[in-house]
Amino acid sequence: MASTMKAVVVHGPEDYRLEEVPVPVAGPGQALLKVEAVGICASDLKCYHGAAKFWGDENRPAWAETMTSPGHEFTGRVVAIDAEASARWGVVEGDRVVAEQIVPCWKCRYCARGDYHMCQPHDMFGFKRRTPGAMAEYVLLPAEALVHKAPGDLPPAHVAYAEPLSCSLHAVERADIRFGDTVVVAGCGPIGLGMIAGAAAKFPERIIALDALPQKLELARKCGADITMNITEVDVVQAVKDLTGGYGADVYIEGTGHPAAVPQGLNLLRKLGTFVEYSVFKDPVTVDWSIISDDKELNVLGAHLGQNTWPAALRMIASGRLPMDEICSHQLPLEEFQKGLDLVADSANSVKVSLIP
Ligand SMILES: [Zn+2]
Ligand SMILES: [Zn+2]
Repeated sequence: MASTMKAVVVHGPEDYRLEEVPVPVAGPGQALLKVEAVGICASDLKCYHGAAKFWGDENRPAWAETMTSPGHEFTGRVVAIDAEASARWGVVEGDRVVAEQIVPCWKCRYCARGDYHMCQPHDMFGFKRRTPGAMAEYVLLPAEALVHKAPGDLPPAHVAYAEPLSCSLHAVERADIRFGDTVVVAGCGPIGLGMIAGAAAKFPERIIALDALPQKLELARKCGADITMNITEVDVVQAVKDLTGGYGADVYIEGTGHPAAVPQGLNLLRKLGTFVEYSVFKDPVTVDWSIISDDKELNVLGAHLGQNTWPAALRMIASGRLPMDEICSHQLPLEEFQKGLDLVADSANSVKVSLIP
């Protein structure tokens, strides 16, 4: 095996470079993967452009670090592993695996209580020097990582979609969908499509998908939406009320990151409804909080990452129920990571963009 590899290295916002770096060496209890595919996340794009959530501002410290490689949505083949890691993860050399994006510390209060997805140090692949990501030919799996064996016979980009899908499924679990529910999913990007698929697996009365792009709404139907509404053409608050006898939706899952999607959800929910927020917003969002309290007594819940949902995400991808060829719209070589980031920004012409190192 070569001693150096190509990797995208973060030097700072808008300064990512393709470099030749040493191939990591797997130590005791670790494993080395040959990367087969790595998805580019909207969060990768936000980090690239210097968003405060990653690089800090007057209200918060920086979380992202320079001199690491991005990429937290990946799959690859095990090329080096010792007996300890093999026993822990149930995988052997040659297996295709995925690793959860968070590498928990297993020591903090959250990890101790099973809420490892909220781990206090919060080291995620692709954002920290402790956990370099997979926009590289090889990626190291630390002993603390959560590794799952993945189907070896599917296109690697499809398998790497397990990461965003695990997040979508977690948001769906937070929503606690009932059979009689009208569920509205806002946003039909990679995350929203996964939310629709997850909600469909819960078999509610109806799933309504919202987006501004007809081609995304088309895809939403293939993922399980019963009704689609183009927010640029329809008064969705009124339309949802019309469909529900004037009451409004039972559940609203927000996956757009657009400020207007927040009051939209509060307004189209019925009293005692459930609002699940998954998005990351560029700026603070202002809403009338009395809708949450006095008007409707809503349940407003956050959702982050994919706690205990990775096995289901992998099963769903393997089941063939998702239009994976359309969801995984673009695969580019590692050298074209810049073009990949541009394609993610151009969401009218892409869904999930992946790099194939
Ligand atoms: Zn992601
Ligand atoms: Zn922890």
